[in-house]
Amino acid sequence: MKHYSSIEWLNLLSGVVNEEVECELHEHLLECEECLNIYVSLIENAEETHLNSPLSLDFTDRVMNTIHEENRKLQAIKKRKTFNNLIICYVSAACITLFFMSSGIFDFLSKKIPESSTKFSTTHLGSSNLLSNGWTDRLVDKTSSFVNGFTKNK
Ligand SMILES: [Zn+2]
Repeated sequence: MKHYSSIEWLNLLSGVVNEEVECELHEHLLECEECLNIYVSLIENAEETHLNSPLSLDFTDRVMNTIHEENRKLQAIKKRKTFNNLIICYVSAACITLFFMSSGIFDFLSKKIPESSTKFSTTHLGSSNLLSNGWTDRLVDKTSSFVNGFTKNK
């Protein structure tokens, strides 16, 4: 009885043999227990190899492509939200402006701000004289008395 080599059994496993050879090999497996054992061990090795490397070679590429697609979708959603928020801000600002214009607050401010600024400038000039007269002299007096007290105690 002619036995087949491991390479021929691997070819059968890989599916690279033609139909005629495949039939011969299968018939031989039915008759020969020695070749059947070799064939079964090759199948077990192939399964172990497959289990030890569960990730296919293009796994990283597929994951990265999925991540890029998700990022693109998120960017599109963010752009839409930003545009909607911008429109809401403009509409809100327009509503607030219209409200202030209808209540006359801008007229009130345009009349009152010049009056109050002239009042502030006249009163501020007087208070600046008061401030400059007092605090520097008092600071010098306090400091010199502290230094004098410190040197006398020594
Ligand atoms: Zn055999």
